[in-house]
Amino acid sequence: MLISCKECNHKISDKANTCPNCGYPLRRIKPAVKSKEGLFLKSMNFGCFLFIIFLILRKHT
Ligand SMILES: [Zn+2]
Repeated sequence: MLISCKECNHKISDKANTCPNCGYPLRRIKPAVKSKEGLFLKSMNFGCFLFIIFLILRKHT
């Protein structure tokens, strides 16, 4: 399917990431960024989990 670029109105494929005419980015949300963010949140939760365990262990000693 062909769409027109918002910047230059050049006819481009909707599967293209950027406009070949002016380089305008058509897809801002990339799955790689999304998974990286998920991994960050996962590591954050793991860090919180370790911190809670650390606090519990400190209370007992
Ligand atoms: Zn364009």
